[in-house]
Amino acid sequence: MIPRTTIKWQAETWQSSLKSAITSLVELCDVLALDPNQVLSGENSTADFPLKVPREFVNRMEKGNPRDPLLLQVLPVAQELDIHPGYSQDPLKEHAANPIPGLLHKYHGRVLLTVAGSCAINCRYCFRRHFPYQDNNPGRQGWHKALDYIREHDDISEVILSGGDPLLASDSLLAELCQAIADIPHVTILRIHSRLPIVTPSRINDKLLNWLTGTRLQPVVVMHCNHPQEIDTEVGHALQALQQANVTSLNQTVLLRDINDNAGVLAQLSHTLFKHGCLPYYLHQLDPVQGSAHFALEPTRIRALYDALLRQLPGYLVPKLVKEIAGVPYKSPLSVDGIYS
Ligand SMILES: *Cc1c(COP(=O)(O)O)cnc(C)c1O
Ligand code: SF4
Repeated sequence: MIPRTTIKWQAETWQSSLKSAITSLVELCDVLALDPNQVLSGENSTADFPLKVPREFVNRMEKGNPRDPLLLQVLPVAQELDIHPGYSQDPLKEHAANPIPGLLHKYHGRVLLTVAGSCAINCRYCFRRHFPYQDNNPGRQGWHKALDYIREHDDISEVILSGGDPLLASDSLLAELCQAIADIPHVTILRIHSRLPIVTPSRINDKLLNWLTGTRLQPVVVMHCNHPQEIDTEVGHALQALQQANVTSLNQTVLLRDINDNAGVLAQLSHTLFKHGCLPYYLHQLDPVQGSAHFALEPTRIRALYDALLRQLPGYLVPKLVKEIAGVPYKSPLSVDGIYS
């Protein structure tokens, strides 16, 4: 356990860390001691979704390894430009569930607010890489409509802040928003989906913990971590800070070819997260978004992997294997039954 007092970061640490993120392939190769010719460069694929990776995340990559599992998550490659049948720009048909800019209401009892228009890191497999964030970043003014919508639907008990990455918004903005949500009596749970606790752990500072735990709402943070190598000492401290503040901490992972398509790696991820008070939540099958087909796995491979994971872990450390199907009002569980029949 780390005493709270040791987790004192400068308020600006995370912002400056985001500003100094690496956006040049040449620089990334230089820092990682890689020959740019070694990495399959897809500079053309970066036009609408550029390379972006904070240095703390790069520091966890293995130098000289062009196949590093963290590097492969952020490295633009030429295959992204290939066109594959069944892979589209909006595979989840999110436009249809978008009643007001910045608000998605697809599932019973919970709505998702897109609070920020970008991310700290650009993940090549991202299902929102083509999402028109610019039209969905309502800001303070636009929130009124979203809050009115939530107020008018008294079956909504949970508000999910998402993005982009919601934790890119300032603490004062988030504090104001959370208070406004807490003022709606039927909302009881505030959930944050963010990759920042993993990518830029200094984001979990005292200011954040204050607004996150400072209302009557029950706070839940869902991290996005795909590989145990993403969890270094600093990330461990951030996760423990959440735990000590009584924030429920969960993780979701996307199953990715050549990155975490290995039961041993996934089991280790669960154990490492749990050591820091974070439970595995979802293991997502990749969404068929244009540009990500090279990360996909065969269904038989996925079932075999999940079977191997079930054999290795206690039930509470096994994430739910799910797939998002447009129009289905929940994340659909994938079954392993098939491999025994
Ligand atoms: C994934 C998602 C949620 C949350 O679903 P849970 O199964 O509760 O984690 C809510 N709204 C939208 C639009 C989503 O995509
Ligand atoms: S942090 Fe999440 S939303 Fe942002 S690019 Fe990565 S996967 Fe996509």
